[in-house]
Amino acid sequence: MANTSLLVVSAHVGDFVWRAGGAIALCAEQGYSVTVACLSYGERGESARFWREGLNLQQIKEARHREAEAAAAVLGATLHAFDADDYPLIETPELVEKVARLYRTVMPSIVLTHTERDPWNRDHEVAHEIALKARIIAQAPGFDPGQQVLGAPPVFLFEPHQPENSGFVPNVLLDITSVWEKKLAAMHCMEGQQHLWDYYTDVAKRRGVQAERNSGPNLGLPAGTIGEAYQRVYPQVTRELN
Ligand SMILES: [Zn+2]
Repeated sequence: MANTSLLVVSAHVGDFVWRAGGAIALCAEQGYSVTVACLSYGERGESARFWREGLNLQQIKEARHREAEAAAAVLGATLHAFDADDYPLIETPELVEKVARLYRTVMPSIVLTHTERDPWNRDHEVAHEIALKARIIAQAPGFDPGQQVLGAPPVFLFEPHQPENSGFVPNVLLDITSVWEKKLAAMHCMEGQQHLWDYYTDVAKRRGVQAERNSGPNLGLPAGTIGEAYQRVYPQVTRELN
């Protein structure tokens, strides 16, 4: 059987839920092993509610870890938390190597991560860099020689918060209708970011409408489809233009 594993590289713990929760749940239901690599907890920059409640840094990290574990479990994924700092997330050689080692362990057949540009959140850009650099390192025979090297898993970029200004081109629309309840439940695990629940529900409905309009006779998606948008980094290789 072909390797069916998905690796998601997320800058902060909430990101994988809002942006890729549907893809994660779909892949898990299809039998993929799914690993979510959270480079940081988003403890400084994406945990405003916990700061207002008076929690300290360590308490916030622990709270966010629990949220991420709960969300990953709902979606059918395994969480791998690196606990690098956030705001700023710094790309260090050590962190890149650790992520490359995770690639070698997971040997993903699909990779999801952030867009190259996100003017509102440089941590997301750093995570993108780390994800792509680590992928290339894991492909190199000279990195930890003797191990099986990584092939060429396609990389899909998930949707940033303000897509138009981040150069995001949604050229892949994924129908996540069948797993929407799981994504919603995972979003509700992120109690520190309740302000995003409605926003990402609206985004999912809008991408669903676009998926309907682009589905053609091959899928024929009905009204009420829920979607997630992605952008491919590398060319699609196929024997059929279907
Ligand atoms: Zn983030």
